[in-house]
Amino acid sequence: MSAPVPPRHQLLVGCSVVEVETGGVMAVAAVRILDGEIVDLGPELEVRERMRLAVARESVPRAGAGTGTAEALEAPVEVDLGGAHLLPGLLNMHTHFSLALPGTRGAEIAGFDAHALALYMADGARRTLMEGVTTVRCVAEKDHADFALRDAIAAGRAVGPRILTAGRALVCTGGHGHEGSDTLECDGAVGFRRGVRSQIKAGADLIKVMISGGIAGEHEQISTPQLHRDEMEAAISTAHAWGRKVTAHAGPASVIAEAVALGLDCVEHGYQLTPDVAAAMAAQGTALVPTLVVTRCGAFFDELGVPAWMQKRSLDAGPRHRESYEMALEAGVTVLLGSDMPPFWHFEGTSATVRELEYMAEFGLGPVKALAAATIEPARWLGVDTLVGSIAVGKRADLIAIDGDPTADVSALRSLRWVMADGVVVRDDAAGVSRG
Ligand SMILES: [Zn+2]
Repeated sequence: MSAPVPPRHQLLVGCSVVEVETGGVMAVAAVRILDGEIVDLGPELEVRERMRLAVARESVPRAGAGTGTAEALEAPVEVDLGGAHLLPGLLNMHTHFSLALPGTRGAEIAGFDAHALALYMADGARRTLMEGVTTVRCVAEKDHADFALRDAIAAGRAVGPRILTAGRALVCTGGHGHEGSDTLECDGAVGFRRGVRSQIKAGADLIKVMISGGIAGEHEQISTPQLHRDEMEAAISTAHAWGRKVTAHAGPASVIAEAVALGLDCVEHGYQLTPDVAAAMAAQGTALVPTLVVTRCGAFFDELGVPAWMQKRSLDAGPRHRESYEMALEAGVTVLLGSDMPPFWHFEGTSATVRELEYMAEFGLGPVKALAAATIEPARWLGVDTLVGSIAVGKRADLIAIDGDPTADVSALRSLRWVMADGVVVRDDAAGVSRG
């Protein structure tokens, strides 16, 4: 099966464009795309007039060509989105394509050989894109298969979202997640420095460290501190020296406070924040990826055959987890969408990604800021906001279309029916198109 060659020049019409930075909605809008880049957007009549002039000139300057060469500009292929709201593709900041939780399904995944694992991860990546997630941040993947997958997608050999990845997460001996090949055991400052360098050498875009216990470790508590101060300092300062940000799996406030003071860039989960540590995070610019669904997903755990002790720990942590998130919002911490569950997983009538977005909005963020937490804010954290994260001239055409206004209710995202990645339509329910 070979994919048709996508048109170079496209005009999206019949849509309202959602401006995720302001919460504004531009009705009767059009978006013009050339070679996967957004080259114009605005009220449809204005965009059409500027396009007419551009086509009449027969050529347009090519961004980055630099040699003064120009190619003939053909009339665009028009795509009528039938009254949809058009949004930038979603960014999911806490993804594991090789996730293997305790239980029967996890044991099967943990038993895959390298080839089976790579194919399994590629399947997850493709499903993720079909759910409108056009960029992911992987925060612990097995065997460095994530680097091959990232590069294959970028080269067009596999279908999936843009991937930025931490490679293997760094963990102390016996620490959170040490059982799998998605972590690397390190000890002492020297060990953590080597760990950071080894992931960067393999291709890591960022660094992930486990600084406390978690839900999925039988012999630890969420509150168990796992790294000494000198180990955290070594990991963070080494990563920063190499221009990589650091995010930490972390539960308890005391451990987070120490890491934030050392320059930590992001906290995953943050199950047990306090107002003081939330204030410190806000002051330091440390973001929070709350992953609210992980303490609210009993049905998902049942499907995977996750054992009772883990389910209990997860669901019991839920109320405090929510309180923690509310403290972060109150303090003004930047919050970012991340599901931890596979981003594409069908769960309570939608994807895990959209379900997380609903929780974020419902628990105090509101729809407009929740949309930013799923798009432009993660793009900024990742340093890719000149490329993606909003619908703007000069950015790549990573776009999704839904019915209903998400600035009024993020549950409108449940109606996702069209996905464009880098200027290529990969899903169009009306036309029966799905590269998934
Ligand atoms: Zn995780």
